[in-house]
Amino acid sequence: MQWSFSRLNTYENCPRRFFHQYVEKSYREPPQEHLTWGTRVHTEMEERVRDKKPLSQATAKWEPYAKTFDDLRDNGAIILVEQKLGINKDGEVFVLDDIDDERAWGRGIIDVLAADVPKALIADYKTGKVKKDFTQLHIFAKLVFGLRPDIEVAKLMYIWLKFNKVTTEEVTREQIERKWENIVKRVQAMEDAVETGKFPERPSGLCGWCYARQCNFCPN
Ligand code: SF4
Repeated sequence: MQWSFSRLNTYENCPRRFFHQYVEKSYREPPQEHLTWGTRVHTEMEERVRDKKPLSQATAKWEPYAKTFDDLRDNGAIILVEQKLGINKDGEVFVLDDIDDERAWGRGIIDVLAADVPKALIADYKTGKVKKDFTQLHIFAKLVFGLRPDIEVAKLMYIWLKFNKVTTEEVTREQIERKWENIVKRVQAMEDAVETGKFPERPSGLCGWCYARQCNFCPN
């Protein structure tokens, strides 16, 4: 099964929900206001950073973030938005033809990649609550290091739009290799579950937002 951070995260939060959503495919998440809003924000920021299309009134407050990428470009960095990258089991990284590109074992969509050899900035917009976990950006860094052998160090940046806050971490190629070993183990646990068909329920505060509707903890 092709995996992404989102699928791994769903599996680790609740294997049973992951089963219904991605293995059995018995339901799709219904449209939710915060997800629709998140998609709109990503599209507007993408068009602003890539095409310099002005932000709407609703998103104009985030212009300073877009300006940061303008400044990097003006100083010689190459700015790429919505980069869809995949990795196969041999560790080869490539640009995806489309999101379902069958060559990919794992995949990720990078909101903004600013490459200024030998450094890179990898940024991801978030519209939810601030979290400490950098796993998604560690995956993205692995993809960028794999695609660009000339990049040696990457600054990882979550942009928490709702809270006007930025969290960062700087990683080297060697550090990411060590983190990647752990991520692969986590992915293997998910793949083992698909192999054995064991998907236990893991009730949590997230049950209130679960639409699987097929377990005793499901409130819907
Ligand atoms: S309701 Fe809770 S325990 Fe049941 S599948 Fe959904 S997230 Fe898992």
